Amino acid sequence: MSARILDGKTLAAKICAQLKSEVEQLKQQTGAIPYLKNVIIGKDPGSCAYANSQKRVAEKIGIQYDLVTLPFETTQDELASYIEKLNADTSVHGIMIHKPVPEHIDYKPLANAIDIKKDLEGINVANIGKMLLGDTQLIPCTPAAVMAHIESTGIDLRGKEAVIVGHSEIVGKPLSLLLLERYATVTVCHVATSQAGKLAGHVARADVLVVAVGKANLIKGEWIKEGAVVIDVGINPVGDKILGDVEFDSAKNKAAYITPVPGGVGPVTVVMLMKNGVEAYKLQLQNKDQN
Ligand code: NAP
Repeated sequence: MSARILDGKTLAAKICAQLKSEVEQLKQQTGAIPYLKNVIIGKDPGSCAYANSQKRVAEKIGIQYDLVTLPFETTQDELASYIEKLNADTSVHGIMIHKPVPEHIDYKPLANAIDIKKDLEGINVANIGKMLLGDTQLIPCTPAAVMAHIESTGIDLRGKEAVIVGHSEIVGKPLSLLLLERYATVTVCHVATSQAGKLAGHVARADVLVVAVGKANLIKGEWIKEGAVVIDVGINPVGDKILGDVEFDSAKNKAAYITPVPGGVGPVTVVMLMKNGVEAYKLQLQNKDQN
């Protein structure tokens, strides 16, 4: 078997087109479009590159996207006041703070200070809590991108064995909730699973395997179940190449579907941020109607 490649650019383009038409409709109905503010503290080159790619996608969809660069020396209190100002500004519908932040900044309280209806990355504790209750309107973008890839295969998740490798707050844990919501039987593996020598055994059971670790070629192709859906979230620069967490060449001979790295999950993650922007806009419209 040679797996079908889940091309992230194609899927991202499809979701972009859907969002574009939704934004056009919203513009006709309300006379306005979603307006997103993205805050970078300092000049981290990775954040600037990521923000520029977000801006390009936002423009394609017809979303207004502003990048605000604050000086590296900005204090925690100044940032908290700035977030408060953006929360109160009714023309702003989505807010995100790029990571990494300078060492003197405590990121979590700032992320939690973002109005839950403007939480572009779906990372405010209140939105994470809502996910636990099945409310998935604003959710972290990478798990959302993984779900979009899985859905694109047409697989019915009900009763399937879904194995996630990596239990980070931003990928593995929220993804486990989304898969549970779809009635998959979910196993979450982490460093202790590997230390106990049990990783290969869990991987071998997976109808759907998602790997988000950050270790090049951690998952061997020979471990993978014949016909599995394999989603590789890992991004590992090795020499002049970017590798995933899954040994791609051998895995594609076992899997039915597999994402490449690069070009799999990444392009869809950016689009999911814009989807959250549109959802945030709609939440604020509802809020206005209720007041
Ligand atoms: P993270 O916070 O470092 O989490 C990595 C997870 O892997 C942790 O749960 C860790 O467990 C687990 N782990 C480490 N070594 C392991 C091993 N040998 N066996 C099994 N599990 C192991 O990383 P992250 O933010 O989730 O990101 C993971 C990868 O995805 C990175 O390569 C990152 O660049 C990439 N990523 C890609 C996108 C995208 O859009 N494509 C978005 C986000 C992240 P412990 O905590 O117990 O050590």
